[in-house]
Amino acid sequence: MKKIAILGATGTIGANTLDVVRFSEGQLGVCALAGGRNIALLAQQMEEFCPKLVAVLDTAQADALKKVVGRRFGGEILHGDAGYAEVAGFHEADLVVSAMVGAAGLKPTIAAINAGKDIAIANKETLVMAGRIVMTLAEKQGTRVLPIDSEHSAIFQCLNGEDIRNVSRIIITASGGPFFRQEITKEITPASAMQHPRWRMGKKISIDSATMMNKGLELIEARWLFGVSPDRLVAIIHPQSIVHSLVEFNDGSLLAQLAAPDMRLAIAYALHFPERKPLNFSRLDLVSVGALEFFPPDEEKFPCLAIARSVLHTDGILPAVMNAANEIAVEAFLAERIDFLQISSLIAATLSSFKDKENPSLEEIIQADALARAEAERILTERVLVASYPRVT
Ligand code: MG
Repeated sequence: MKKIAILGATGTIGANTLDVVRFSEGQLGVCALAGGRNIALLAQQMEEFCPKLVAVLDTAQADALKKVVGRRFGGEILHGDAGYAEVAGFHEADLVVSAMVGAAGLKPTIAAINAGKDIAIANKETLVMAGRIVMTLAEKQGTRVLPIDSEHSAIFQCLNGEDIRNVSRIIITASGGPFFRQEITKEITPASAMQHPRWRMGKKISIDSATMMNKGLELIEARWLFGVSPDRLVAIIHPQSIVHSLVEFNDGSLLAQLAAPDMRLAIAYALHFPERKPLNFSRLDLVSVGALEFFPPDEEKFPCLAIARSVLHTDGILPAVMNAANEIAVEAFLAERIDFLQISSLIAATLSSFKDKENPSLEEIIQADALARAEAERILTERVLVASYPRVT
């Protein structure tokens, strides 16, 4: 049995991972879980999967969890950064699923690699912030970083058995989000931005999809995961979300991976890798899908994608700065402190306060993340945001 530790167990990826474990007929098991504040769901998961170690956000959440599970739980309940690091490095785990939301996933993911664990990564922010450091460390430790993000899983599957030097382009598809065919106005509400046409996901990634920052983050994620230069990475719109991504080779051949939009397929591929196991999840009927369409992305309409593409070509602290500003902007939009158009303005304004720094250490990246959050908050509070987006140069 392959034993799995899950960072971010109560999120959408965590829940889908547990579903994959549930249907693995004993080939996969859960040894450790980390959640944040969703104590009720975590308690249910503990009851069903019997992990030996669990970690939550803080002492208050740990006390609440202990109250709910009581003596029925024989394992340990930890909390905070130290608790997450324990889950990440749990001695029984063969593989760690990194699925926490945002920058919070960085330190536990590094802890897992340091402990020699293979990683199945859904937390793209970790690779956006510190892709070079994470991949170099994984190579040194001899561990695998396996993608769970559907696009990256598609690319990974297309590259299986291929020589990366024969790749001329990696083409990442994007659904276009809820506003692909709609005008973007400042009247857009958080509720309407959350209505993703194809995927049911958490709040942060749903808003990122609506602004198309998600695709920008994914371009940066792909750069590090597959070790390709930024000029070989392209994003295109594919509203049906059936072709999950493509690889173009130097002979002009394109390989694509197609499947129903069900994130359990990508999760199962990573969890069972290098084997491909039979699954009884969604099957794709191409005849009933009919037409598959492809369009170029409109970066005037989705400035977050333009910002991310400019940051894609840098590899110092700017990706971490952009990521932090985006997290603050998404929270501010969800809290109705800014309108939808101001998300990109806030990110661009924050970025313009920073100079890049080459070859940053992990500490410098974490510091840049903190400084960028403070700067984004300052811009928000002082209301120096302009309504229209200033282009980053
Ligand atoms: Mg994705």
